[in-house]
Amino acid sequence: MTEILITRVRPYGEECVDIRIVGEKIAEIGSSLEVGNAQVFNGQDRVALPSFVDLHTHLREPGREDAETIATGSRAAAKGGFSAVFAMANTSPVADTAGVVEQVWRIGKEVGFVDVFPIGAVTVGIAGERLAELGAMANSAAHVRVFSDDGNCVSDPLLMRRALEYVKTFGGVIAQHSQEPRLTEGAQMNESELSSRLGLAGWPAVAEEAIIARDILLASHVNSRLHICHVSTAGSVDLIRWAKNRGVDVTAEVTPHHLLLTQELATGYDPVYKVNPPLRAESDVLALRAGLADGTIDIVATDHAPHPHEAKDCEWNAAAFGMLGLETALGAVVLAMSQLPDWNWRTLSDRMSVTPATIGQAQNHGRPIAVGEPANIVVVDTQVEKVIDPSEFASISQNSPYRAMTLPTSISDVFFRGRHVVRSGEVVEIREVNSHD
Ligand SMILES: [Zn+2]
Repeated sequence: MTEILITRVRPYGEECVDIRIVGEKIAEIGSSLEVGNAQVFNGQDRVALPSFVDLHTHLREPGREDAETIATGSRAAAKGGFSAVFAMANTSPVADTAGVVEQVWRIGKEVGFVDVFPIGAVTVGIAGERLAELGAMANSAAHVRVFSDDGNCVSDPLLMRRALEYVKTFGGVIAQHSQEPRLTEGAQMNESELSSRLGLAGWPAVAEEAIIARDILLASHVNSRLHICHVSTAGSVDLIRWAKNRGVDVTAEVTPHHLLLTQELATGYDPVYKVNPPLRAESDVLALRAGLADGTIDIVATDHAPHPHEAKDCEWNAAAFGMLGLETALGAVVLAMSQLPDWNWRTLSDRMSVTPATIGQAQNHGRPIAVGEPANIVVVDTQVEKVIDPSEFASISQNSPYRAMTLPTSISDVFFRGRHVVRSGEVVEIREVNSHD
């Protein structure tokens, strides 16, 4: 079995230790461990964390391989410090059958840089008309536990109720893209004084909040599990806090970009800032940060949404919604959150690894850095800042809102199932790894 000795790393930013990996597991943790037969990797006093888990990724395969593939998206995820991603179902064909989810799962396994967990569609073709084969997807080799029509909202309350009831039978969860369709017809950016001034159709907060309120009540009524995707308004945070106080089984995510960026970026009409849900006001951003810090919002999820140039190099109204997220997630979260009291590496690990793994039931992920646990570890250089250059991304697409921005920290190394998959910030192709074995 391959043996790796990581010397001088600081788990959760705490005291410096050595970590021995044997095969896919952490075998020993201590100071000045003997090298023995191990390959030695010097951690240079950097921070070691359980590698991240993204509950909301668009890998675009099958169907839009010009934007991203499972292979390129897996590499982008690894470079971002992730060891598991949940792939959204709005592909072409839609992941609404056991056949499609198994295909995504198998390709992810073959690629081998992260574990790819397919999300199943709630409704056939994400068309919102009838339930997809949830049970068949759950019982498939892909073992689907998270279902979402993301991109679309399950807006029919009866269908939403049926879906919530159905997933209870196997302990699944419905992840809702909360967007009341009638209130957002033609919407282009956050509804505000600014949207009127820019002449862009407004997207009111109530379009998100009305669905969240309804779904909280539905989930409570049928005693099932609801997960709320990409929360973007202060009012949504209030609703989720209210639900949790009443014991409703609800979890929620926020994206790095909603923690950091505001609607004012639309002023230049650059569609790289066009996203669904839209960037909101500063007051919303502050409420989202506070909600993530106090646990009202459970996790960070990237909503990594690759688009080819032609979908973004056009007028704002014609451009596609969405931004890249995997390769910049940590830097954006650190920049947004590090000033908050009580925010530390353990809290960040909880929001970016432990809890997303729990919500998605991703076994072997989000586990502590401890003996006997899976060796899924990210090593972070906290002493550097990085100027973001999308041409360096592993992703096929380049629609990053952080282009030319400076973000703190850098992902130095990633160990996935004990394999050194990212070294000094670069993906290690599997052939290279084997040549070292
Ligand atoms: Zn969405």
